[in-house]
Amino acid sequence: MSTSVSKLRDTYFPYARWRRLPLEAISLTAGFWAQWQSINRQTTLQHGYHMLEKAGNFHNFRVAAGLAEGRYQGPVFMDSDVYKWLEAVAYELHLHPNAGLQRQAAEVIDLIGAAQQSDGYINTHYQVAERGQRWTDLDFGHELYCAGHLFQAAAAHYRATHSTQLLDIATRFADLLCSTFGPDKRQGACGHPEIEMALVELYRVTQRSAYLELAKFFVDQRGKGVMRGMDWMKSEYHQDRVPVRQASEVEGHAVRAMYLNAGVTDLYLETGEEALLAALQRQWHDMVGGKLFLTGGLGARYEGESFGAPYELPADRCYCETCAAIGSVMWNWRMLLVTGEGRFADLIERQLYNGILSGLARDGQNFFYMNPLLSRGSYSRQPWYVVACCPPNLMRLLASLAQYVATWDETGLQIHLYNSATIHAPSRAGQPIVLQMQTDYPWQGQVQLVVQATDGSTWQLRLRVPEWCSQASLTLNGQPVESPRLEAGYLVVERAWQPGDMIGLQMLMAPMLVAAHPRIDAIRGSLAIQRGPVVYCLEATDHPDANLMDIRLDETASLHTDWREDVLPGGLMIVQTTGYLAETTDWPQGLYRHFSGDGGPRQSIPLLAVPYYAWANRGANAMRVWIPRVKAG
Ligand SMILES: [Zn+2]
Repeated sequence: MSTSVSKLRDTYFPYARWRRLPLEAISLTAGFWAQWQSINRQTTLQHGYHMLEKAGNFHNFRVAAGLAEGRYQGPVFMDSDVYKWLEAVAYELHLHPNAGLQRQAAEVIDLIGAAQQSDGYINTHYQVAERGQRWTDLDFGHELYCAGHLFQAAAAHYRATHSTQLLDIATRFADLLCSTFGPDKRQGACGHPEIEMALVELYRVTQRSAYLELAKFFVDQRGKGVMRGMDWMKSEYHQDRVPVRQASEVEGHAVRAMYLNAGVTDLYLETGEEALLAALQRQWHDMVGGKLFLTGGLGARYEGESFGAPYELPADRCYCETCAAIGSVMWNWRMLLVTGEGRFADLIERQLYNGILSGLARDGQNFFYMNPLLSRGSYSRQPWYVVACCPPNLMRLLASLAQYVATWDETGLQIHLYNSATIHAPSRAGQPIVLQMQTDYPWQGQVQLVVQATDGSTWQLRLRVPEWCSQASLTLNGQPVESPRLEAGYLVVERAWQPGDMIGLQMLMAPMLVAAHPRIDAIRGSLAIQRGPVVYCLEATDHPDANLMDIRLDETASLHTDWREDVLPGGLMIVQTTGYLAETTDWPQGLYRHFSGDGGPRQSIPLLAVPYYAWANRGANAMRVWIPRVKAG
């Protein structure tokens, strides 16, 4: 197969409505996400490298390779953090070649290669701590999970550098998996999904159908109810209660659910098996209709890091692991490719600006594992975790973020996320289309797109109208576009484009109050503040004279925005309004009393809300997203 066909095949999945663009086709040139990418590039990746050294991840590989002595360090899935870091580095090398980073990556890849056993096996826990126990604990051993992260890193590294060194390590291991697992071989699947999407990705890079078949085998192995579960939670913890094609609810461990669904969607993208897509659609509606936090966070319970019942969405004791929201972005991105429906991009946007970005401090080297919507003040960011899945997941997401901005198909180009960017896409005639996007999104609702190159043919430009936006309009070369077509959440403009054509999208972006479904018990009677895609919160540090638990939001007060640079470097938009303090002085004894009305004097207080993602950057302090409402007077 020629390189060009192979390259096309690598981004064009047979059952995709829209095609992903190669990573190098889109670059973020300025603005919100370019800033965060720069923090990731300049600080977070190096911080990660040092923490992997400190925590013993690299040590484990050295011991497995016979280059050092010592005991295995950390939990069983330590290898995966190295692979995720390496995947992030590969995306960086792809877009911003850097000699220092390249040298670090080369050292780490050499180390991984040195640790690989002669039959292709590699997992430092089972090579050092539990020698001879390979494949004896698929439920909790994370061997296939770690393998999956190796395969994803290898695919990214090969695309970035065209070096086959890491890819060869990965395919040697993948070939061992193919000869070990299968219909007439060893049965079972990994307790933590990940290998499924990784094998499909490895298939896309190598064109070896055995990898796709093995991914399908692992998907088919689920739902037998044989995995052991965690505490009181049975096999649903591992996504093993219901066969994949019969699933209708998201349940169990939230990260595992999202990773499995991403893998199953990948399988659909390659095979077109309708039963898979139907099950994914059912689960999506279950999740969005009952188990999604306003911030895009997922996982209502600490127990089993799991989804709760529908409408069980507590603000304080929710889990909302950073990785669960990242996993959801991976799944929803694939659903977007399959369907071309804006609702999947809407959810990606909600999660990126809120429940994911909250996981990373502005300094680039402190993290949240859980992302609650209410804190009483003791929860603080950490430089690393014993279970350090989230930090390198943030690194690889930020480094590869540009890929989610746009897609293409035979009809034209689709824009999903708004950020200043240059986008290169092929057109029907094979000539490149180059588009320049400029915007201050998410702080302003204006987006300008300039066609820099095109072949003169007619094609469609689709621009997503986000779910938060109630009023959007278009201009073409300065003239209003009357009643533009709206399809599945996208405004469609079709014309024989010329270089220099300019499209303007204006989205009315004003701060608004958000209400929650009446069945969500924990936040009933509360409102949240949102502006554009950004969810806001109150922090104690901005309300030094009040207990955050006493604050009530005046639902009739107006909301004002203000650009501020003293909250976070780089600046952000705050929202100001008015609230009241609940009367607590006449509660001298205990917590409960005879009810005699809510009366009592109220003291007015100015409220200052900051973006939720920005909280806990000024030290640990109390925070709340949902604020109990009152009417003035
Ligand atoms: Zn995590």
